[in-house]
Amino acid sequence: MTKDELMIQEISDEIVYCKWHPKMETALRCYQCGAPICSKCARRTPTGYICPECRKNHIKRFDTAHSYDFIIAAVVALVLGAVASLIPSLPYAGWYIFFVSPLAGTIIVEAVSRLTGRRQNRHLWKVVVVAVTIGSLPMLLIYAFGGVIVFMSGSAWGMWDVFFSLIHLPLLLGAIIYRMRLR
Ligand SMILES: [Zn+2]
Ligand SMILES: [Zn+2]
Repeated sequence: MTKDELMIQEISDEIVYCKWHPKMETALRCYQCGAPICSKCARRTPTGYICPECRKNHIKRFDTAHSYDFIIAAVVALVLGAVASLIPSLPYAGWYIFFVSPLAGTIIVEAVSRLTGRRQNRHLWKVVVVAVTIGSLPMLLIYAFGGVIVFMSGSAWGMWDVFFSLIHLPLLLGAIIYRMRLR
């Protein structure tokens, strides 16, 4: 702290320094704990500005999921991910996959949410993403590989099999991440 800054602090009680950035002058205070916070640390909420510490505690209170909810979520996502991975190999697989694969993602999120009693945790979506990916890969790889063989044997249609099996998982995961992170 420079001489000038020290003087300012002595003259005026109004100037406070951020609890996390001792060099940042600020007039903001956390509405919950009253700690001075700079504009970088402050997060606006409907009730006022909040400090990083109170914000963390606030988020924790919404983590209501039990540890077994993670296991339920993983198993459900693995099984339903495996079922959904049949979508690209359906007869007449086509552009409707852009609608059906995200829809399957939405159904998986709904199933996980119901079976875990709608309890929440900000990390639950990662478990679902990993489990769905593991459940999907065997069938998708088999189908993509089949497409390559069809293509090598002279039919360009094989490329579509490869394309649809590659595009399915990103569409599915996109819908899952979108639904689970928004809640
Ligand atoms: Zn606070
Ligand atoms: Zn700060």
